Order: sequence, then C-alpha cells, then structure tokens
Amino acid sequence: MANDFETTIDFIKSQFKTDEFIPLHVPHFGGNEKKYLLETIDSTFVSSVGAFVDRFEVMMQDITTAKKGIAVVNGTAGLQVALRLAGVMSDDEVLTQGLTFVATANAIAYNNAHPVFLDVDIDTMGLSPIAVSNFLDENAEMRNNVCYNKKTNRKIAACMPMHTFGFPVHLDELLSVCDKWNITVVEDAAESLGSYYKGKHTGTLGKLGAFSFNGNKVVTSGGGGAIITNDEEIGTKAKYLTTTAKKPHPYEFYHDELGYNYRMPNLNAALACAQLEQLNSLIENKRTLATEYASFFASKGINFRTELENTKANYWLMCIELENKAERDLFLKQSNENNVMSRPIWQLMHRLPMYNHCQRDEQKNALFLEERIVNIPSSARM
Ligand SMILES: *Cc1c(COP(=O)(O)O)cnc(C)c1O
Repeated sequence: MANDFETTIDFIKSQFKTDEFIPLHVPHFGGNEKKYLLETIDSTFVSSVGAFVDRFEVMMQDITTAKKGIAVVNGTAGLQVALRLAGVMSDDEVLTQGLTFVATANAIAYNNAHPVFLDVDIDTMGLSPIAVSNFLDENAEMRNNVCYNKKTNRKIAACMPMHTFGFPVHLDELLSVCDKWNITVVEDAAESLGSYYKGKHTGTLGKLGAFSFNGNKVVTSGGGGAIITNDEEIGTKAKYLTTTAKKPHPYEFYHDELGYNYRMPNLNAALACAQLEQLNSLIENKRTLATEYASFFASKGINFRTELENTKANYWLMCIELENKAERDLFLKQSNENNVMSRPIWQLMHRLPMYNHCQRDEQKNALFLEERIVNIPSSARM
C-alpha cells in the first residue's frame, strides 16, 4: 500500500475542487460578520464592554444550555481561570492527558499547579477513565475527603480531559472515577464547540468548561474564548475575575482580589456572534465532508475517525490513523508536497522541555496514536 497515497491525495483535491493549496482548516465568513463589525465601529464600543459581548454570552448559554457563559480573551485564559475557580491552588496537581495541545498543560502551569500526564483511550483519543482510575488506585489516598498523591504529598485538585478534534471523551466513566476520589472535572472543550455527549453539550458535564474561538477553530472571533458553567455563583465569579475583579461602582475603582484583564473585546464578540449564527450550518457542511471521507477511506482500508456511539462530533479537524510511523511519514511528505496540507497529531507533553519532569503513566495508547494520527483538510466547503 506504501505508494498508494496518490489516489487519496487526488480524492481530497476532488472534494475541494482545486489543484491549488488546500489548507487544513480555514474560517468561513458568510453571514453578518461585516455588518456587526461595522456596527461595532459606529457604536465606538470596540473594546472590553459592549452589546456584542453580552449577546455572545447569551448565545453561548443558549447553544450549550449552560447557566452561565463568560466571554474571555482566548481559550487558554478561559482554561486558566476555570481551573482557579475549580479550586486549583499553587502546588496542587491536575490530571490531564499527555496527548493534547500545549495550551491544556500551560493553563495548569499558569496556576502554579503540576500537570500529571495520563494515557488516552484509543477510540476517543482523549483522557482515559481507566488510566485515571489506575493512576489514582496506585498513587492516591483520601485525607478528610480530599484526594492526595501519596508519593508527592500534593493535593490532586482537578482533572482536565480534552475532547480531541471534537470527539468527546468517555465522560460518564471519567466523572464517576473523579467523583469517587472527590476530584473536580474541568473540560478543555476548546476544540469541541458543537460536540455532544449523550445529548449534552461538551463543557457542561464538568464543573466548568472552556472553548476557543481562535482562527483555526470551528468558528472564530479572530481570537477569543468562553467559559461555561451550570453553577451561577462560579459563573458570576468567572466574570468578575476575568474583568479585573472590580467591585461595581459608578465611578470608583476598587478591586478586592487579584483579577485578570481577560476580557473579550466587543470587536471580537461581534465577529463571534455572526459566526455562532452559522455554527449549525458549518458543522452540517463539515459532516457531509466527513461522510465522503468515511466511505472513501473505508474502500482503501484506512481508518478514518468517525464519531462514537452516543456522541455527536463537530468534526473540527478530521483525521486518519495510518498503519505505522513510516506510512504516516510517507503520507505527510506526499500530501504536503502535492498541495494537500496534512499534519501529525501533537507530540506528547513530556517531550516538551518545560514538562519533561512531570509525572506520567506509561501512555501506551498515546504513544501508539502519536505515531499514526494525521489531520487532513477539514474546512467547511460553503
Ligand atoms: C485551541 C486550543 C486551546 C487554546 O485556545 P486559544 O484560544 O488558542 O488560547 C486550548 N486547548 C486546546 C486543546 C486547543 O486546541
């Protein structure tokens, strides 16, 4: 099969009806983007307060059914604050997956906490409830109903699964393990806007969740993010902390704790609102491409990743699993040399210098996927 990627490359080109460069994912601006941006400029409210910020937050609540949605400057900042609100303190530990984008680990480190990198499941490519359970059985103990790592004597304060490429992790199983050990779950839902687990929007099953609206995500605000939670009190606190922790007053400036300027500018919120109006149609369009890919790759005997039972995926970045590293390298070379962009999945977090000292398990599945998973062009074809 080694030299057989030509037909695959040709198929991808035929799907996008071009011989020119096909990027992995491009945004599509087909709605009210320009109208809302001009309205924002005319209003002079281009910065950190404005009508579109409020509207964006309500839209996020409607889409996800979360009680509170909070606009923030980017997804990473959203995750950082979500962890703080989940009770993560300096020197605590946070369990997460070794196979993820670096922002997941960074958000933990920004809280001066220690990430612990655990294995993923082969099917979801996200944090494995079994790996979490095994790690805790071996390393943790309860002290006054608080989970501690026996070996490091640190509190295990939170667990942060990430829904890789928009495919939800096994949330019920993960929540039940974390519940048993009294560990708060914060979902890195940066990639999974529009993805559902058993009918519930990703990000709403943990205590908090955060999304990204970066330019490469399923919809974009240029740069931006959102925190969601069903806990009203935590939601109010999230808004407060991300807007400099200022006590409301008509003219006095008083801040009673260390807050952040993580506000999403109204300009970006305007773009986000216009994009969210098209979220469903963009995802439906991507799902059509996924169907085409699925039947093509089935005929080639190549494993194209599709949504699992009981989930709905947004198909943010679509991917194939190749036989081994040599096949993967060949596909990456042939496709990128032929105007079809492809990219390997991330390197495991412990390979990065700032995280190579962190605790981790064997990561058997993560190592397997790291060598085989490749993203292919996934843009909506509008
Ligand atoms: C995109 C992304 C983020 C961060 O979002 P930004 O808006 O770029 O800060 C966090 N986690 C994951 C898994 C992501 O893919």
